[in-house]
Amino acid sequence: MRDIHEEARRAAHHGPMPPLPPDPHRLPPPGDWFASDAAHHLLDRPKFCPQCAGSLDRGLISEWWSGDDRIFLTWCAECRWTGNIVLFSRATIEEPEH
Ligand SMILES: [Zn+2]
Repeated sequence: MRDIHEEARRAAHHGPMPPLPPDPHRLPPPGDWFASDAAHHLLDRPKFCPQCAGSLDRGLISEWWSGDDRIFLTWCAECRWTGNIVLFSRATIEEPEH
């Protein structure tokens, strides 16, 4: 039978950790000035091409910023699509009067 208290005790244990595998994404050490941006890029970057839906793992994704917008210059190795994908937290949309 599952003992949730035992699982919680194990989860809270701060003993020595087993060695971790090499980080394939080579994030900068935590605390470096760029570490937070690099981690957010890894989490939020586009994963699939908007043109062919292929994986972007072999493509190119470079991020830059314009104000609060996060802009991902994206190239797909499968179909060669190139373009910007923009993440924004707020949009201003004009609606014609009717
Ligand atoms: Zn594509």
